[in-house]
Parts: sequence; structure tokens; C-alpha cells
Amino acid sequence: MRESFAKMEPFFKTSEWDLLRKAKNVLFLTGAGISEESGIPTFRGDQGLWKSYRAEELATPEAFHKNPALVWEWYDWRRGICSNAEPNPGHIAIAKWENKNPRLQVITQNVDGLHARAGSKNLSEIHGNIFWARCTNCHSKFHIDQITPKRSGIKFCPNCEFILRPHIVWFGESYEDRILVRCWELAKQAEVVFVVGTSAQVSVPSSLALSAIRNGAFGVEINPSVTNLSDSVHVHITDKSGPTLSKIFQTLFQEE
Ligand code: NAD
Ligand code: ZN
Repeated sequence: MRESFAKMEPFFKTSEWDLLRKAKNVLFLTGAGISEESGIPTFRGDQGLWKSYRAEELATPEAFHKNPALVWEWYDWRRGICSNAEPNPGHIAIAKWENKNPRLQVITQNVDGLHARAGSKNLSEIHGNIFWARCTNCHSKFHIDQITPKRSGIKFCPNCEFILRPHIVWFGESYEDRILVRCWELAKQAEVVFVVGTSAQVSVPSSLALSAIRNGAFGVEINPSVTNLSDSVHVHITDKSGPTLSKIFQTLFQEE
């Protein structure tokens, strides 16, 4: 099904531009790649390494059980990078598109908070958020600014003093049912689905994209690399998401 455009504009046929302009149920599924241009390392690139650990060795319940201080230190390091990063033209184009079309929805695997900072409101952060922690005992949720002391490492619940964990869905953990039900509904309704900057190795997000396409959505992938989803989308744009999404927004709405 795929037609691959290597940095080629105008990206779409006239009828496809018309579809993008008219579609109400526009769904974005985003992954770490959309934040790469903001300076946040992806997991599967070389820069994703920290003290020679791979993400898969730290982002698990087993790793936390074995060495919570190490896992907290890693999240503290990553949160520092996210705090210093700014939304890039990709996040901004999606947020501006939502202003034009209030039915547009974003489902992100990212935990960096950049979609919200760019102004996206219809946002499902299905893997959690790095600026939040929750108690392993009483399950209360706290923003990182509510937790004292501020030093790096293990953190404790202000309510019950049990250990806190990052509010993140780790490898091998389940998604919140409420969020999942909503995401399947969005995938079913989508007329257009953009899959941006995800290696599609996590099964739920790639199943959501496939389900949207099987239900008739026009599928677009924006990723410099080929992924498991590339053969299933209608158009694969092999360029970076920042410039590509700004160009698409400008062409659709004749605005910068
Ligand atoms: P991934 O690291 O597995 O893959 C990133 C993908 O982005 C790759 O396919 C790569 O080709 C593509 N990419 C790189 N630069 C790009 C660019 N400029 N434009 C478009 N695409 C680009 O990421 P994933 O599929 O999201 O899975 C990683 C998991 O790790 C997710 O569950 C996510 O929660 C988490 N994670 C989040 C962040 C973040 O919040 N920013 C960062 C790293 C990992
Ligand atoms: Zn508690």
C-alpha cells in the first residue's frame, strides 16, 4: 500500500490534500522521534544510553524492585533533559491544527510533556508523564514539585512515607483501562491517522494505528526510518517530523 516519499514535496496527491483539509477525526499517534528535534534522546538511538544501561534494563518493574535508587536517578536525569527542552515545530504544528479542528486528537507514547506545552489539549499520554510520581502503597499521585527533598534518587510519599515510583507505564506493565478504551474508540473513528516518530515496536500503539487503517482511515507515517507499520500506511514520508509537519500545516491552512 505504501508510497514512499523521500523528502519529496508536495507529499500528497490533490485528492489526499482535500481529504486532510476536510477530515474532522484526525488522529496523531506520536513517539519519541517527534521530540528528537527538541534534543530528547529516543530509546533506540545511541544517545539513549545512560551510564551504559539500555532503557529496557531500567524501565521495568523488576529493575525498580531490584534497585529503586538507580531507576529514580535515571528518571531524574531524563526529567532534567525534558525540563530544559522546548516544543519543536512538529509539536507546534499539531497544536495549531487542533486550534483549527477541535476534533483532532493526539495519542502519545512520550512522557516528556512537550505536546501539552505546545498547546495540545485533546491529548492522551498513554505511557504516563515524567513530571509525576505515584505512591506504591496508597497510589496517590504527586507532581515532582510537590515532593521534598529535591535531591536525585529515591523519593517518598508525602502522605504515607512509602516509596514513590515514576508515573510511567513500564515495559511489561498494563495500560490504564479507561485510557485504552478511549484510544480504541479514537482509532475506530479516525478518518486520518498520522504515525509520527515511533519505531512501532510497542504493540498497543502500532495496533491502534493498524486498527484505524483497517477501519478506513488514511494512514500517513512520518519517520526517516522504515518501521513495522511502513507497509500498512498509504504514505510514508521519510523526513524529520518538525519540518514536515510545519510544511503540511502551512499548505493546509496557508499560515505559518
Ligand atoms: P523509539 O525510540 O523506539 O523510536 C523512535 C523512532 O523515531 C525511530 O523509528 C526513529 O527512526 C524515529 N525518529 C527519530 N528522529 C525522528 C525525527 N526527527 N522525526 C521523525 N521520526 C524520528 O520510540 P518509541 O517508538 O516512541 O518507543 C520508545 C518508548 O520509550 C515509548 O514507549 C516512549 O514512552 C518512551 N520514550 C519517550 C521519550 C519521550 O518522552 N520523549 C523518549 C524516549 C523514549
Ligand atoms: Zn502513599
